[in-house]
Order: sequence, then structure tokens, then C-alpha cells
Amino acid sequence: MEDPRRRIPRTDVLAALEPVRAAERSLGRTVVRGMIRGVQETARRGEIAPEAVEQRLLELLAGRRPSSLRPVLNATGVVIHTNLGRAPLAESAVRALTEAGGYVDVEMDLTTGSRARRGEAARAALLQRCPAAEDALVVNNGAAALVLATTALAGDAEVVVSRGELIEIGAGFRLPDLIASTGARLREVGTTNRTHLSDYSAALGPRTGCLLKVHPSNFRVEGFTAEVEVAELSGLAASHGAPLVVDIGSGLFDADPLLPEEPDFDAVLRAGADVVIASGDKLLGGPQAGIVLGRAEAVAQLARHPLARAVRADKLTLAALEATLHADETPVGTALHVSRDDLLRRSERLARALDVTVVEHDGRVGGGGGAGVPLPGVAAALPEAAAAPLRTGDPAVLPRLTDGWCLIDLRCVPEDRDDEVLSAARTALEAIR
Ligand SMILES: *Cc1c(COP(=O)(O)O)cnc(C)c1O
Repeated sequence: MEDPRRRIPRTDVLAALEPVRAAERSLGRTVVRGMIRGVQETARRGEIAPEAVEQRLLELLAGRRPSSLRPVLNATGVVIHTNLGRAPLAESAVRALTEAGGYVDVEMDLTTGSRARRGEAARAALLQRCPAAEDALVVNNGAAALVLATTALAGDAEVVVSRGELIEIGAGFRLPDLIASTGARLREVGTTNRTHLSDYSAALGPRTGCLLKVHPSNFRVEGFTAEVEVAELSGLAASHGAPLVVDIGSGLFDADPLLPEEPDFDAVLRAGADVVIASGDKLLGGPQAGIVLGRAEAVAQLARHPLARAVRADKLTLAALEATLHADETPVGTALHVSRDDLLRRSERLARALDVTVVEHDGRVGGGGGAGVPLPGVAAALPEAAAAPLRTGDPAVLPRLTDGWCLIDLRCVPEDRDDEVLSAARTALEAIR
């Protein structure tokens, strides 16, 4: 009898199929050839019939994206979810990003044909949003902005900072290590819970490079505490001729009544900071970026430093950031400010269709700031076992696991995608029945 394995379609036959050739153009030859070999191998092991090879291959190709990063519907209620890529971009920012994928005039003045300042449009948009700033610079991320600012302004002199602000920013990265990594020396002042103006002034002297104030975005100190406000600190800094750098973390341009403890760029600059830095992908709701705003000569000092070249923002970031700054609304803003009534109406519809209950559930700002601020809302409560099929379904839905329940919080789900969540939840419930 003939060996059935001889009937497995050959590679050149499969590769010649039109859908396979189209897939090669979008996914690349190496990926597609690897998938062909994989399917042939499953047939060789007898797991599928040789006749099924072609169809299996076409199915796999249809589901394959150019990037293996899978889009996820965030049903956790955590707005800035670091593990899910922080801020989802506004539609206009996504469009800007896509268009910037080709050749763009990022460093070129097309009228004169001569070289222009990189990212001029993003810079102009930043200055428009922050009237108190004289100049702006965009780098790769918040941590890079912090390192660049302290390195350029302090060199190997001392960076004076309160012990209450020596934070770990996530994944084991600590601010003091970050600053010390380029040769600047930290001069810690005060204590964990209380730091006074006199602590700073006692530390200032000929070895001072700059003063640094860091907003504790991810924790709160309560009880017997004291910190020195930017306005007081800036007076002290100015009288010693030392620049004051303030890391506000979250990147708000306008004060948000929902998050009264989150500082904004304009207020901090008006209070006398020389340089203010923040991330682009937290409360601003834009791409990963480090935003620097401040006095002209201080920002120019950062831009001139050799390290600036190593942390410069790419054209995709600049494009998406500019679009974000001009957007009327971002998905982050929408998720933060969604009303409880809207959330209740959407959740009840979901829960009715699934025959589950709606429970009270507070959303969170997440890694972007507003530590400890609850965002009152509701969620649909499914059995805990539904979480795994939800995560691996299509579309993937990430729920919140708490107290033995799998909660679906629609706060961060665009309303026009509620039906997708519903059908994913249905499938998940069927899978565990
Ligand atoms: C998030 C954060 C950083 C780090 O910013 P990235 O953009 O994640 O590099 C630095 N400082 C503070 C206060 C932050 O909140």
C-alpha cells in the first residue's frame, strides 16, 4: 500500500497558491515557509490528512498578523495598564503613525529643500498646549528624559533630592540607580515621610548640580508627612543659581478635578521649575515618549548634550504625539471620565445577555498616576474559570480577577466594541460549561 505521506503537497506547490503568495508579501517569505513546513510536519505525524494540508495552511495564514503582538480588549478597569502597553492611541494618532511609516519631512523644510529642526511640529504643539514653557524637547521615554536632564544639568556634580521621592518606577528600576548610572551623584535630603526647605538649603553648596523634585505617581505617604512645594523650592534653587528639575510623571497639560493630586506642566512651570518632564503614554494618552518643557536655556542644554542623540524620539513617536496633542479627546481621557450611569447601562446589557450579575467595581488609573484614587463603577461578574478562555479568545479580552470572580469592566472598552466583548464572553462561558 502507498505511504499516505507521499500525498502531502510539496512546498513549491503550496507556495505557488495565490493566497500563499499574497501572505508572503505581507508576512515575509521566512515566516510563510516556516508555516508551510509546520503544516507538512503535522501531516507527516499523521495528525491531519494529507488532503487537509492546503486548507489548514490557508486557515493559519488568514489568522496570522505581521506582528505577533495581539490586540487585547482591556476589561480590567485599569486605565493605564503597563502590561497592555499603557495608553491606547486616539484614532488620529494611529493615522499619523501609519502615515509617518513612509518617508516624511521630519528633518526637512520642503519649501526651501534644506534641513530643518527635527520634530518641529510636535514641539510647536507642545508649546501651544503649555504657554508657560519657552522650549520643548521630546525623547524616548520619561526615564530617558530624567537621565538626560540630570546628566546635562548636573554633570558629575550633585543632584539634590528628597528621600521621600527616591521611588522605584516599575519592573525593579529605581530612580536613584537611573540617575547615578550616568555619573551624577545623588545628595539625599530629609527623611522618607518629612522633608523641609531647611534640609534642602543645608545641602546646597559648591558641589550642587541641580535640584530634583519627583512626583510619587505610584504610591502615597499618609499621616505625619511634609514636603516642599515647587514654588518654595524654586526660590531656593534660584538663589543658589542651581536649576530645578521636576519630574511630574503623568504628563497632564490641564489640571484634572478627578485627580487633584496630579500636577500639570503649566502649574509647575509657573511655580518656578526650570525643566519639567513627564511620560507621553500615561495620562496624556499618547505614544511612549519623554516630554521636556521648560526655560529656553535649560532645554537647550539638554538638547545639546551627546546623550540627547542616544535617547531621541523617532518619527513615529513625533507624529503620534503631535496628533495626540491636537486631539479633542483620547481613549485614556474617555475611560477616566466615563460616567457611572453609562457604565451601568452597558454592563447591565452585557450581564442580561449572559445571565450573570452586575457588581460594584472601582476602576483604577493604573501606572499613570492617581495612586489610590478609586474610579467608581460597575462590572459584570463571571465565574473565575472564564478568565482563561477570555484571554486566549478572539478577540482576546483581559478581565479583572478578584475574590474568586472574573470581572468584566467596560470602562476601558470603546462602547462600539461592547458586542465583541459579549460574544467573547459567551464563547468563554460555553467553553467552561
Ligand atoms: C512613569 C514615571 C517615570 C518613567 O517614565 P517612563 O516613560 O515609563 O520611562 C519616571 N518618573 C515618574 C515620576 C513616573 O511616574
